[in-house]
Amino acid sequence: MADDIVVIGGGVIGLTVANELLRLGAKVRILERNYCGKESSWAGGGILSPLLPWDYPDPVTELTQFSNRLLPGLAETLRQETGVDPEYRACGMLALPDMNNKEGTKFIGAKNWCARNTFPLKEVYPNEAFPKLTFGEFADKSALWLPSVAQVRSPRLLQALKISVELSGGSIIEHTKVTGWRMGQGRVESVITDGGEYSGTDYIVAAGAWSREILDKYALKINIYPVRGQMLLFKVETGLLDAVVLQNGFYLIPRQDGYILAGSTVEDAGFDKNITTDARKQLLERAHKFLPELTERTLVGHWAGLRPGSPENIPVISRHPTFDNFYLNSGHHRYGVTMALGSAHLLSNMIMKNPQPFDVAPYKWHV
Ligand SMILES: Cc1cc2nc3c(=O)[nH]c(=O)nc-3n(C[C@H](O)[C@H](O)[C@H](O)COP(=O)(O)OP(=O)(O)OC[C@H]3O[C@@H](n4cnc5c(N)ncnc54)[C@H](O)[C@@H]3O)c2cc1C
Repeated sequence: MADDIVVIGGGVIGLTVANELLRLGAKVRILERNYCGKESSWAGGGILSPLLPWDYPDPVTELTQFSNRLLPGLAETLRQETGVDPEYRACGMLALPDMNNKEGTKFIGAKNWCARNTFPLKEVYPNEAFPKLTFGEFADKSALWLPSVAQVRSPRLLQALKISVELSGGSIIEHTKVTGWRMGQGRVESVITDGGEYSGTDYIVAAGAWSREILDKYALKINIYPVRGQMLLFKVETGLLDAVVLQNGFYLIPRQDGYILAGSTVEDAGFDKNITTDARKQLLERAHKFLPELTERTLVGHWAGLRPGSPENIPVISRHPTFDNFYLNSGHHRYGVTMALGSAHLLSNMIMKNPQPFDVAPYKWHV
């Protein structure tokens, strides 16, 4: 139908923006080349925070904090509406010190950032706060406890979003690959796919790591590139670990039913999504160090996903500089699950001409 808004890509970014537009009364059609929610969004850990939030520039902080204010409401609405629980949970995160960092265990920058951003933080000793864990050399070093850090179970969030889009009248067309564009005078006329052409009022590219490829010459100066991340999944007894534990880029994420995720690598491997024995060994060793129960015996999964990488982790959420009805919502890099809802609000406001909650200039598409 010609009065639809066409969303390209059915990952967390495409599904969330479609869901938001439907709530605002728009008609929406998603075009997805495979099945929705099976790429990076599925692979993600679902931690709802930048790993060390003080390491990122203000546009990342603004967008993640905005999203985090809205997310508990969305998770509850989805649970009630679809019967699928995205398992939103403020489990907290324990950040162990990076001994190679010149700041060591003083955390001055972190403490200042948390005070400025009213982000709850407490200095703790890991062996006292988490007596069941081993922590090795970190046991008696002071660490940071961030109680407000939450998580969702990404595959369940995606499942709920997809059902919600369909329940709200959105159309999802899977196994349809976008291959090109038909442009008119300052506007997109239609999008070309391997299953025919689709036209609409507006077009949103939300194709993750593949966004640049899809945009082709219309990408201009956007810098979005694949960044491989590998993750391990363990199954242990429930209650062994309650909070996310983080040390120098490595984390453990506990689910309530005894699954524990250990991740993740950050690799430049182009569009290669294969898993590697090196990464498996490296992640296994680090996981075992914190929780000896995590061994080959309890390992039940190993996968890789391609993040849509971007400089400084700042996504592009913007209208095209030349084409009026052409939008991009991509480049969420390590924090797409965290940023999805905030990004969906910003982009929907642009299309529906509603006011923005804060300055969106940092997310602009540059010529
Ligand atoms: C190992 C790992 C751990 C992560 N952990 C976290 C975390 O804890 N917290 C967090 O917030 N984020 C995390 N992330 C990052 C997060 O998963 C991503 O930022 C997010 O999933 C990006 O969503 P997306 O919808 O843009 O991309 P994707 O989920 O990749 O979706 C893009 C979609 O576009 C489709 N597509 C591509 N080309 C075409 C085409 N030509 N035509 C039609 N459709 C097309 C794809 O099939 C895909 O379904 C992690 C990522 C990885 C890999």
